[in-house]
Amino acid sequence: MDIRDYVIKEKSELKIQIKSLERPPFLAIVQVGDNPASNSYIRGKEKDASEVGIQSQVYHFDNDVDAAAFYSELQKINDDPSVDGLLVQLPVPPQLSSEKINQIIAPNKDVDGFVLGSHFLPCTPRGILDFLSFSRYEFTGKNALVIGRSRIVGKPMADLLLNKNMNVTICHSKTPASALLDFIASADLIVVAVGHQAILKREFKYKKDAWVIDVGINRDENGKLVGDAEKGLPVAYQSPVPGGVGLLTRLALLKNLVEAMKR
Ligand code: NDP
Repeated sequence: MDIRDYVIKEKSELKIQIKSLERPPFLAIVQVGDNPASNSYIRGKEKDASEVGIQSQVYHFDNDVDAAAFYSELQKINDDPSVDGLLVQLPVPPQLSSEKINQIIAPNKDVDGFVLGSHFLPCTPRGILDFLSFSRYEFTGKNALVIGRSRIVGKPMADLLLNKNMNVTICHSKTPASALLDFIASADLIVVAVGHQAILKREFKYKKDAWVIDVGINRDENGKLVGDAEKGLPVAYQSPVPGGVGLLTRLALLKNLVEAMKR
């Protein structure tokens, strides 16, 4: 199924579920500064939330906010019983420590899934796994290749696929190019999360029934949004960019939030 159709279907189911709750879930979004990319991500999150009946509020702080004052306000937002889920939009300015922020956000409100001991899966891996499961992808015994090992995408993705009984390989910037090509050639499922254009090229050798999930978000020389894979790989399925993993990530945030409230 097309990712856009899948997301529309899932959102309409979420909307029905949310209507049956005693009150709408409440998402607190904390923003520091006015990074244009953050503004656009936050607008997207607010729009998604209101579409399915979730309430959201943005708590805005100046870029030069005093660290101690910020942590104290963040603690208050976290402790507010009406807040079901709380996220701090990254990046934050250098006077603030992500580590300290993650200590303040309670694991049961951490709907981004970033905090140690979080009750939730990070949104991107969760979104991808949910989509593959919905598509009846048969995981067991197959070769998964995850390219990228970040704490919020690559590593948790690899872990989830391992839990699905796949034979998982993780590659990264120190993987020799020739080894990467061998892993690509024998992979049934490739999740590429690097942040460089054309990590996967059409000319490489792939299994023809392979699936490729492209997490990357890059701008090409014309400023157009592109993924980490060239378009038109000779595989059975390739997720589009834009209109692919970004939508799955946004959907997963809504699902985490509804679960946060139910719990
Ligand atoms: P990070 O920069 O944290 O991690 C990138 C990973 O890629 C690192 O593990 C790095 O290896 C590896 N890498 C770098 N160069 C190569 C290479 N030439 N070959 C193989 N591996 C390489 O990025 P994120 O995981 O946060 O994000 C990855 C991409 O996904 C970005 O484009 C980001 O914008 C996008 N993204 C998209 C989301 C969505 O919803 N669509 C959500 C989250 C991210 P090493 O560890 O050795 O440095």
